[in-house]
Amino acid sequence: MKTIIEPFKIKSVEPIRFTTPEERHKILVDAGYNPFLIHADDVLIDLLTDSGTSAMSAQQWAGIMLGDESYAGSKSFYNFESVVKKITGLKYIIPTHQGRAAEKILFSILGGPGKYFPNNTHFDTTRANIEFTGAEADDFLNEIGKHPEIKADFKGDIDLEALEAFIKQKGAANIPLVMLTVTNNSGGGQPVSMHNIRETKKLCKKYGLPLFIDACRFAENAYFIKKREPGYAERTVLSIAQEMFSYCDGATMSAKKDGLVNIGGFLALNDEQLALNCRNLLIVTEGFPTYGGLAGRDLEAMAIGLEEVLDEHYLQYRIRSVEYLGERLVAAGVPIIEPPGGHAIYIDAKKFLSHVPPHQYPGQSIVCALYETGGVRSVEIGSVMFGKYAGDGSLISPPMELVRMAIPRRVYTQSHVDYLLEVILDVFKFRESLGGYRITYEAPMLRHFTARFEPI
Ligand SMILES: *Cc1c(COP(=O)(O)O)cnc(C)c1O
Repeated sequence: MKTIIEPFKIKSVEPIRFTTPEERHKILVDAGYNPFLIHADDVLIDLLTDSGTSAMSAQQWAGIMLGDESYAGSKSFYNFESVVKKITGLKYIIPTHQGRAAEKILFSILGGPGKYFPNNTHFDTTRANIEFTGAEADDFLNEIGKHPEIKADFKGDIDLEALEAFIKQKGAANIPLVMLTVTNNSGGGQPVSMHNIRETKKLCKKYGLPLFIDACRFAENAYFIKKREPGYAERTVLSIAQEMFSYCDGATMSAKKDGLVNIGGFLALNDEQLALNCRNLLIVTEGFPTYGGLAGRDLEAMAIGLEEVLDEHYLQYRIRSVEYLGERLVAAGVPIIEPPGGHAIYIDAKKFLSHVPPHQYPGQSIVCALYETGGVRSVEIGSVMFGKYAGDGSLISPPMELVRMAIPRRVYTQSHVDYLLEVILDVFKFRESLGGYRITYEAPMLRHFTARFEPI
């Protein structure tokens, strides 16, 4: 097999700014050793997130010019609606400005105290929107998905036995819907199998519950099914995606991921009354149902992006570039979550910096070293992001200390990835010289965004 190449040529380029290690050291000190506080201009390779950071195609940029900005009944809305209907088969398509706006509307209507929402793993905004209504968000990830060192094909699957026990315990009447997040973002971008989606649907049917899909990375999930699940190798990714959605009664989507756009999302439903209620709330919070908080041009770009993301050459390049990075890291002995998911590589910081205890934030130390060494921006997902304090002021750490490197779509080439590898391997070589950090300032909530640190 020949080298898998980027399935595009480059027509418009955006220069990246080079800095010296000395400059980066000063930038890091000024930012309180928190890469969230660094100007993006001072970053060479930005792996903070894959959300809204995709490069749009020439076709999408042409779509921007074709966008119909009519307040009501925009042609761009109907283009968008027909693409989403084709992929999902769902009847009522409601545009929103991003994924969490769809969640906010859905859970404002279905949530409330005494309600329970099971999922394989809720994404943070999903959990927050559920809890905000007074309802409870519950995770039922399969056991295998909880072990970073175990290699398996579908580590995003939901645990059906645990889910059924939960439904019996809480009562179906208190569970407005069951959700599956594909791929499982909070669990390392791991895919959910078609078998698991189908069986979840069967279970939901048995108890009369609707099944919803958090579809942010539906195309990446469909591609994993094609590659890994028996019986799907010859199917198109579109038909696999269509089958995935055929088992659901509704979906929420952040098009900032597999919509290949910088802003956008939607809510898709089959229930007419629920769609009516959602549209009424949409008018209050987002806008008229044919634009939902977006410009006509955004709807046009989304319609095109949702078709482009199903291109199999694109998905092959996408999944392979993440896998390639993962393979090289594993070969060099760098501890990562295996196998790599669809959109990111997660370094196991506990193993990488085994001499730095969780309360000295090993993940933050790696994040700082990656920036200082090579201008690479990544994000800590560990005690900084999820740590809580006990009554005596000691830190309660989450089970894992991770560093996430999320890969933006269609943005970086193989030589960028090779450079990134060199930077990570450099840091790995001098890991024993890296120390821990202490927090000098923190906000009462979501402290990772604004915290300041100093080396111990
Ligand atoms: C990003 C994301 C969301 C929220 O979408 P936004 O567009 O950031 O509001 C919800 N669920 C998952 C799985 C996501 O990755």
